[in-house]
Amino acid sequence: MPMNPTLAARFEPIARDVADHFGTPFHLYDERGIEETCKAFADAFAGTDFREFFAVKALPNPAILAVVARHGFGFDASSPAELAAAAIAGATGEDICFTSNNTPVDEMIAALDAGALITIDDEAVLERLLTLGPPPKRLVFRLHPSASDSTLPGGMLGDAESAKFGIPADRLVPAVTLALAHGVEDVGLHLMRGSELMHAEPFSRTLATLLDLAVLLRQRTGVAVSSVNIGGGIGIPYRPGEQPFDLKGFGAALGDQLQRWAADTGQRQPRLHLESGRAVTGPHGILVTRVIHRMHKARTMIGVDAGMSALMRPALYGAYHHVTVLDGQARPTEVADVVGSLCENNDKLAVQREIPRADVGDLVIVHDTGAHGWSMGFTYNGRLRPQELLLHDDGTVSRIRRAETVADQQVTLKFPASVFPGPDNGPDPELCWT
Ligand SMILES: *Cc1c(COP(=O)(O)O)cnc(C)c1O
Repeated sequence: MPMNPTLAARFEPIARDVADHFGTPFHLYDERGIEETCKAFADAFAGTDFREFFAVKALPNPAILAVVARHGFGFDASSPAELAAAAIAGATGEDICFTSNNTPVDEMIAALDAGALITIDDEAVLERLLTLGPPPKRLVFRLHPSASDSTLPGGMLGDAESAKFGIPADRLVPAVTLALAHGVEDVGLHLMRGSELMHAEPFSRTLATLLDLAVLLRQRTGVAVSSVNIGGGIGIPYRPGEQPFDLKGFGAALGDQLQRWAADTGQRQPRLHLESGRAVTGPHGILVTRVIHRMHKARTMIGVDAGMSALMRPALYGAYHHVTVLDGQARPTEVADVVGSLCENNDKLAVQREIPRADVGDLVIVHDTGAHGWSMGFTYNGRLRPQELLLHDDGTVSRIRRAETVADQQVTLKFPASVFPGPDNGPDPELCWT
């Protein structure tokens, strides 16, 4: 969707100067916009025992994590690097949900050491955890998507047959029983059922599934479920004219649902957890890139200085990101592909898009890159991930991550030499390390 008018009003007048100062390309994030969204979350869930754990993978920059932490958000992490990013932003202990999935044992140890609230994704992971010593007093169990009858769009989490995440519902009681037998005292439930969802209804169904399972667990094991996490997956409007997600109605509906359940069952209302990424920062980021060539084949190609390595969603999912040309509103439009410099034909930020005529030197703005943008970046073809900038409320802009350099890419080529001596030579430490 075209960027928030208040961001446009604050950024566009300084865009050229910012581009000259820092160079292009860059992702720029709007601190004010992110803070307003944080407040909207707090408003929507006022009156409900609620916490949002920002999904670090959406935008793993500690400067951004610090902004959401100021609003009381915790973090959802699933790797040591994400744990470290959350720690740099000041998160400790159960400020962090560690959502394991096929998690290597050393990573699980890192999460335990951090004191994070651990979400168990499979009995095999639980059994491995139990070999590490007494488990944490509190564990969360993630359910397989087949636990909920709904088939949801988005595809990224898989369907009942293909999904790799979570414990099938009929195995929850034995898994929890095993954990309780090893000293776990407090149990939470987790189920993320979709992504890019634009309405509350699928979340309500997910919550209903978890609340039914909470009743079952109470009956079978005696444990009272203390938290229910319905994942991330709140969508944002990427295309002009799409309606934003009604966060306020969503919060009210879920709050009512929890209250009714507590009244009906006589059980204590569990705490509600969400781990949204996209909905928090997605609309508050833009990728700013400069036109370096106009090229004409069967199609007009606008060559810019960023590509799929800075924003993979269009190439990966055919995702739509709105594209504008700075100060281009009054120009005639043309239909063009906006292309990067990678040797892959899907290295395109927009395909056959009607945009104002863009000339060499113009700034092209790709909208809604605040989530799953920089973080999905990669270095194939020796491409360098771009810098990240933060626009503050007072109009200043700071660099919060520099662009990658060729030297960064070569860091992994500098290491102590190591040679396997071959079966006939026998181990010789002199040969292994030089
Ligand atoms: C990716 C992910 C999220 C965040 O998803 P959004 O669509 O950005 O809200 C939350 N929880 C888990 C477990 C995820 O894998």
